[in-house]
Amino acid sequence: MKRDIRLAVLLLSIVCLSLSLATAWQVWSARERTLAEINTNNLNLAQTLDTYAEGIITQCAMLLLGLTERLETDGSGQAQLLRLQKLIDRQQHWLSQLNGLVIYDARGDWLLSSTGPIPAGANSADRAFFIHHRDNPSADIFIGQPIRSRSTGDWVITVSRRFDAPHGHFAGVIAITLGVESFLRLFGKIDIGDQGAISLATAKGQLLVRYPFREQDMGHDFSRSPNFVRYFTGAMSGTASFRSGLDGTERLYAFRKNDRFPLVTTVALGKDEALQPWQRQAWLTVGVVLALQGLVVVIGCLLILDIKRRIGAEASLLSAREDLLQANRQLEVLAAQDQLTGLANRRCFDDMLRVESRRAGRHGMPLSLLLIDIDQFKGFNDTYGHIAGDDCLRRVGQLLQQCVKRSGDLVARYGGEELAVILPNTDASGAHAVAELLLERINALAIDHRASPYGRVTASVGVATRHGAQARDRELELLESADQALYRAKAAGRNRVEA
Ligand code: GH3
Ligand code: MG
Ligand code: MG
Repeated sequence: MKRDIRLAVLLLSIVCLSLSLATAWQVWSARERTLAEINTNNLNLAQTLDTYAEGIITQCAMLLLGLTERLETDGSGQAQLLRLQKLIDRQQHWLSQLNGLVIYDARGDWLLSSTGPIPAGANSADRAFFIHHRDNPSADIFIGQPIRSRSTGDWVITVSRRFDAPHGHFAGVIAITLGVESFLRLFGKIDIGDQGAISLATAKGQLLVRYPFREQDMGHDFSRSPNFVRYFTGAMSGTASFRSGLDGTERLYAFRKNDRFPLVTTVALGKDEALQPWQRQAWLTVGVVLALQGLVVVIGCLLILDIKRRIGAEASLLSAREDLLQANRQLEVLAAQDQLTGLANRRCFDDMLRVESRRAGRHGMPLSLLLIDIDQFKGFNDTYGHIAGDDCLRRVGQLLQQCVKRSGDLVARYGGEELAVILPNTDASGAHAVAELLLERINALAIDHRASPYGRVTASVGVATRHGAQARDRELELLESADQALYRAKAAGRNRVEA
């Protein structure tokens, strides 16, 4: 039963533990799945936006190539510039992101501006893109860092290219300015949550556009940021999770580098925000599992309580059974014992006499019986009272018990003040000797008995003996003989033995 409780507790623990482990594993793998899904979606979005940016820059490159070719062929005289102006006006509406186009001469002075008349003395020799082209003979386009337009005041990105004089000398720069606003409009239409961000940067780590827009982020240089170095250099695309250096928000990033232009598009979702659906599901799962575990524990506890109750019931049943057996044993003793003297009672005497007479017949052995009757006992009671009479009877009984030594001998109270001794395997002379000894000892007790001619308690003994087959099933005859002998002893004056 104790083992049952241990097994129940073990089972309960195993069920709860495995339930917890399975839930933890399920919640963890759901989180991994969610993260993988977010990364895939972000990468796809980054790829799409990269294609969009590439399209715009390709359009710019084609426009710049056409203008360069004309400037290098026809020069930058007034008539040529006028024709170019008309051409630009016609092409401008094909490129909605185009904010303006400016042609600079070799000193940085404005030759032409698509947005209107040239401000007096306008010079851009200090702009990074101008310095880049002046000092670099490459005919490639250059994507410059975001600047505030000198003509419109808006944030713009420059896509520029140099053009040369006939002898290969630097003749000037054509720069297209793309409004940051148009990128922001597109990025703003994409649902990236409250903590998300989309950005376009140069491959070297210079931020060109970032949604949501913040003035202080424009032109931010990431090139030395540990996260940029760690995650964005080397690979063409990838995902990462880190805390933003700009606003400190932890985000899941996916970036894509353009194959043709030095551009990086990055899509980022706030990690907490992106994981919110998973978190809700996880709490629900944990709640349900906890409730389930609680139920299992309650049922388990009830089971254990029930086992405990059964253990208790079984224990009390066992003790009740033990009590019953004890009571039975006591009853058996009581049923065979005389209350007053503690000797065997009449019932026990009858049984034993029957058994012994049979045994004597079977084994051909002698069987003797002594009937002892206390003399003048009525007189003793009358003189000393019944309490003293009982006490006298008890003392005589104990004395007889002490005198009879053999294990098979039985001393019993036959009835009233008459006692009996069964002496198996004892012949007449042996029985006589025992009877004489008993009388001697009773006399030696010297219990006062004023009503007796002997002045003390005495007894008379009738002895009867049967041998072997004579004894078999003839116990009543043996009893009769002992009684007659006793009668003779009484008649002869008491305090004697008759056989
Ligand atoms: P006798 O010498 O002829 O045997 O005389 P007696 O008085 O002993 O004989 P009787 O059989 O007439 O009286 C027996 C008395 O024993 C009667 C009763 O008062 C007394 N007696 C019998 N059983 C008990 C007992 O259990 N307790 C007490 N105190 N007295 C008992
Ligand atoms: Mg009597
Ligand atoms: Mg008597």
